[in-house]
Amino acid sequence: MPVKDTYNTGKTNPESAIYYCKECGNIIPLSKDERFPPCHGGAATWVNVGVAGVADKETIGISKQTPKSGLYLCVGCHAQVIPVARGNRTPPCGKCRKNTAWRLVISAE
Ligand SMILES: [Zn+2]
Ligand SMILES: [Zn+2]
Repeated sequence: MPVKDTYNTGKTNPESAIYYCKECGNIIPLSKDERFPPCHGGAATWVNVGVAGVADKETIGISKQTPKSGLYLCVGCHAQVIPVARGNRTPPCGKCRKNTAWRLVISAE
């Protein structure tokens, strides 16, 4: 597994991706050139999970049953992350409202 990229609060984001806070586990989508925000009331270390290889490469269309519980990212807008339990059906994206697909970015199993 490749080394995960980590960034501290205040750094400029080099690529649009999903990040989680190493300290508290908070998940955020962040666009390229945005600055990494503080979290849990202070400076945070953000870990890239969108590109780091934690994620499954496969995508799942909407209204499909998920193979695993976890956090799913909308591949249409890259701005929505939702938790879905295994066997539940994926919803349409509430942000981009496209007939989109979801990618598992963090597995809960
Ligand atoms: Zn945090
Ligand atoms: Zn979307």
